[in-house]
Amino acid sequence: MQRIPSTSDLALHRGRVPKIWQKEIESVLISETHLRTRVKELAAEITRDYAHSEPVVISLLNGSTMFMADLVRQIPLPIELDFVAASSYGTRTTPRRVRFTKKVSIDIRGREVLLLDDILDSGQTLWETRRQLRTLKPYRIKTCVLLDKPSRRIIRIGADYVGFTIPNLFVVGYGMDYAHQFRNLPFVGILCPELFSNEP
Ligand code: 5GP
Ligand code: MG
Repeated sequence: MQRIPSTSDLALHRGRVPKIWQKEIESVLISETHLRTRVKELAAEITRDYAHSEPVVISLLNGSTMFMADLVRQIPLPIELDFVAASSYGTRTTPRRVRFTKKVSIDIRGREVLLLDDILDSGQTLWETRRQLRTLKPYRIKTCVLLDKPSRRIIRIGADYVGFTIPNLFVVGYGMDYAHQFRNLPFVGILCPELFSNEP
């Protein structure tokens, strides 16, 4: 079951935040405990759904690395892992061009594929990645995201597995960055809004 995450007191997590980042993180949106519990639930659901198959889990670099590492270690199935890296150009209002800077190495023809990403936001990255993977003729592609921000969607796409649905906030931590920073925070935090612009 998916719970609405509750905002926790940042003071409780001070020891886990480097001093020079403490003024930049406004609050904790999803604590380490909440993440652990929910990732376990997702893993149980995926284990049931893929009980008789040998899925290839493909993770989008770099944001989904922590999520992937925690998730797959809770799935006792003969998984193979691969990664893709996408960089995108364009704005929120024009179709984004997604270019792959790292392609899959495993031959996914005829395979069950589970595509993982950190956040489903406008939907363009996941849609375009899935479209390109389909050209490699897998048996099926399902999608799994840790966070879903449905209010920002510009393409009609949903994920088959969603960790948490969150409001329109810019989040960092647990693999997610702002200007390459904050990925190693163990929780999902909210960045002080004055530090960034949410567009494009
Ligand atoms: P989409 O193509 O769905 O708009 O973008 C998804 C990608 O944008 C995610 O994989 C993630 O890299 C980035 N993104 C979207 N929202 C956030 C956010 O709140 N925080 C961070 N760090 N990245 C985000
Ligand atoms: Mg990403």
